Amino acid sequence: MKNQAFNHSLLSFLRNSPTPFHAVESMKATLLDNGFTELKEKDHWVIEEGGNYFVTRNASSVIAFTAPELNFHTTGWRMVGGHTDSPCLKLKPNAHVVRSGYHQLGVEVYGGVLLHTWLDRDLSLAGRITVKLDSGDRVSRLIDFKDPIAVVPNLAIHLNRSANEGFSVNPQEEMLPILGLAKSEFELQSVLMTQIEKQYPGLNVKEILDFELSLYDTQAPALVGLNKEFICSARLDNLLSCFVGLEALLAGLDSKQPALLICTDHEEVGSLSTSGANGPFLEDVLQRLSPNPEHFVQAINRSMLISADNAHGLHPNYSSKHDKLHAPMINSGAVIKVNNNQRYATNSETAGIYRDLAKQEGYEVQTFVVRSDMACGSTVGPIIAGGIGVPTIDIGLPTFGMHSIRELAGSEDAYGLAKVLTRFMDTPVLMSNEEK
Ligand SMILES: [Zn+2]
Repeated sequence: MKNQAFNHSLLSFLRNSPTPFHAVESMKATLLDNGFTELKEKDHWVIEEGGNYFVTRNASSVIAFTAPELNFHTTGWRMVGGHTDSPCLKLKPNAHVVRSGYHQLGVEVYGGVLLHTWLDRDLSLAGRITVKLDSGDRVSRLIDFKDPIAVVPNLAIHLNRSANEGFSVNPQEEMLPILGLAKSEFELQSVLMTQIEKQYPGLNVKEILDFELSLYDTQAPALVGLNKEFICSARLDNLLSCFVGLEALLAGLDSKQPALLICTDHEEVGSLSTSGANGPFLEDVLQRLSPNPEHFVQAINRSMLISADNAHGLHPNYSSKHDKLHAPMINSGAVIKVNNNQRYATNSETAGIYRDLAKQEGYEVQTFVVRSDMACGSTVGPIIAGGIGVPTIDIGLPTFGMHSIRELAGSEDAYGLAKVLTRFMDTPVLMSNEEK
């Protein structure tokens, strides 16, 4: 795939993945199209040499891996990690609010949302619904309204004269999307029932038991800039890395080296969940692939994880926010993220390996270290490294407006990162095993 075609499929992946559930569904479809076999955690696994597999947990996290050979303790796994969730507004259980003559939705803020960016956007609703069928079975289905059905309008400047001097938002009172006028009929349960019947005719739903729904911006992802230098979209953090990781895995299917992609939910809220990176999902899978305890440790020590999550590019309007010598530029390659206080898991060996592989592929590498007078973010890298002991590097593509409803990345960076990751997944020996 060339850069343009690559970006084109990236944009459609972003558009079709309004929630982690939908992102995993999109990835699952791509994996099945490419001959991967789905495993269920409840079942007994028979892994065959030469097979390609994936497994999901909570329908919002996925691990896909290749098994060109089964002696994982002699090969290790080339792992790439990302996360499927993004900061957003999620519906509260009792979501129907009526205020001042309007139907509104009560919302909970998920993760570190840049709240003001959600104002004046044409919002839709998507997620998972758990229902009881006429047959008595309980099942879950994904729904997506697709149409804009709600909006959080700004307050006029005339009613808030100091809005441009500093703007704060009270999420309990001021972020409630408006659905319509209260004089019209509205009952959330029946609207959800209509939507599920529309998407799943013949399902015979008796009642809705519960739901996990979030709002999202209906504006489609786009290439922007005089020369289309930029990708503007919701959820670039971190569906950009999930897409790149998946493309890299698929591009390397002829490799003799076992590779693994892990994309987990709940990173934006600390990753501690059954399906998050701080839960047992990865270890459960790896132990089933390498059940002998000594072999497991050998396999981990022959492995490496590239944790991919976006980095902060130097913003021309806010250039003082970066350390001048660690100020990544858009479209100048992936960024190695370093934090010696272990907010990132990068060390000189994992960084050295990445630099060398990128150079061999002909791509530039940049570095990011947060200013010494500012706090540093973190991601799944240190969590997985600390959990199973795998040597790890944190990298990411430079972006602007992280956690905005519409983020910006470079249109040349994603393709280059996929190339380097494919090479990594095909690299048998990472560091020499000589005596030190
Ligand atoms: Zn992220």
